[in-house]
Amino acid sequence: MPDHDPRLMHRSLLDRPLEVSSASGSYLTLASGRRILDGCAGAAVAAIGHGNAEVQAAVVAQMSRVSYVHTMAYTTDSAERLADALLRDRPHGLSKAYLVGSGSEAMDSALKLARQFHVENGQPERKHFVARQQAYHGNTIGAMSVSSNLARKVPYNGALLLDNVSFVDAAYGYRGQWEGETEDEYAARLVAQLQDEFRRVGPDTVAAFIAETVGGATAGCITPPRGYLEGVRRVCDEHGVLLILDEIMCGSGRTGTYFAFEQDGDVRPDLVTLGKGLGGGYAPIAGVLAHQRVVETLRKGTASFNHGHTYQAHPVSCAAALAVLQIIEREGLVAECARKGAWLESELRRVFGSEKHVGDIRGRGLFWGVEFVADRASKEPFPLEKLFGIRVQERALELGLAVYPGRGTADGVKGDHVLVSPPLNISDEDLQTVVTVLKQAYDQAVKGLSWVDGKCPEKQYWWHEPCGTLNGGLYGSHHARPQRKH
Ligand SMILES: *Cc1c(COP(=O)(O)O)cnc(C)c1O
Repeated sequence: MPDHDPRLMHRSLLDRPLEVSSASGSYLTLASGRRILDGCAGAAVAAIGHGNAEVQAAVVAQMSRVSYVHTMAYTTDSAERLADALLRDRPHGLSKAYLVGSGSEAMDSALKLARQFHVENGQPERKHFVARQQAYHGNTIGAMSVSSNLARKVPYNGALLLDNVSFVDAAYGYRGQWEGETEDEYAARLVAQLQDEFRRVGPDTVAAFIAETVGGATAGCITPPRGYLEGVRRVCDEHGVLLILDEIMCGSGRTGTYFAFEQDGDVRPDLVTLGKGLGGGYAPIAGVLAHQRVVETLRKGTASFNHGHTYQAHPVSCAAALAVLQIIEREGLVAECARKGAWLESELRRVFGSEKHVGDIRGRGLFWGVEFVADRASKEPFPLEKLFGIRVQERALELGLAVYPGRGTADGVKGDHVLVSPPLNISDEDLQTVVTVLKQAYDQAVKGLSWVDGKCPEKQYWWHEPCGTLNGGLYGSHHARPQRKH
């Protein structure tokens, strides 16, 4: 890497990310020669691991046939086949795929599709969106507006955020469920709160309710209580509100079923977004899957979605995603994910279950969050300056394991977790290594607690953004801290 200040604008202007020179299977090789076990698949992206030759061949073959066409006039075999593969047999009534380049674009597209649905359905007064606390739906203006990941919104408040959005509580059993309350009662209370929120803003002004089926990076793999999403569906139906499920991180097989909501009963979302694992990192691609009732309403009206992107349904991205999907299907990786996930859950619980600073272990399939606390009994998070989750992630990286850290777990500001979300085809042996090394990293971070207190002796920095995506740090605390010493 060049010595000068890099021209490439990295996520941090102070720290340079590690340079990866090659990647294969579940391993990354750094320019320095070190090998890293990818225990988080980037951010739950590399679903079939890295460097897959079949996907490479599919991409090259597509490029040599046709690399780009504009979708106003043309379509391609690869885009049609990807949509067919995703929606064969109209799963859950979903009948059309709108393919774009990123999860944020997919969420913006879903918001626009929901809004256009109501306009064409003769209800133009439906302008309001209800989303949840501790949720992330993307960084474009629409997607950011329905997100509640506080740190990522700070500089844009009052300038670049929509105000026709309100938020209800996250489905976050560890912190939200009252003592003595059953899971069913907790689910019912959350559903009642949504009902109240619809009534408060006027149910016939609400366009859609937006939720991650299993929460992603913000609070760390929070899973909905039993019956919650069915209750949400009922309340949405009662008021003619569309249900948008964001499965950009938790979908595409990550939780042990292709859609995460398949484990939540009769949910039938109106719109579902996919991203990350859809292309498995081989090409930028994401999408919105629309239920036939949304599609049919538009068909009877203007008969077109009033939206578009230059790179939508990009043939090369679609070829990559199709190859990834075919590998997932052929190798039975969704079932494998469920099998390995059951083992991972029991192993995480065995190894971390009674650890002093582990408050909660939650997730589904190969999508697990470990939430750290200062005190198990009171669930009190660590003080911010302990940077505990980051310490765990840094120690893990030094030991050759990548996990995905998050801050602001508890309330948007305080709280620490790490995500474990390896490739769905990680070997059993490597999966064992993920847990073993994560425990070593945790132990080292716990040992470090006594001397951390705002400074780390062996490294002269005050804050560190290993992958720049930490919830609490990016904008939240930078200015409050002294400049990092070089
Ligand atoms: C990553 C993510 C997004 C945004 O996707 P990008 O491709 O980064 O734009 C949206 N929602 C969820 C749940 C995500 O995890």
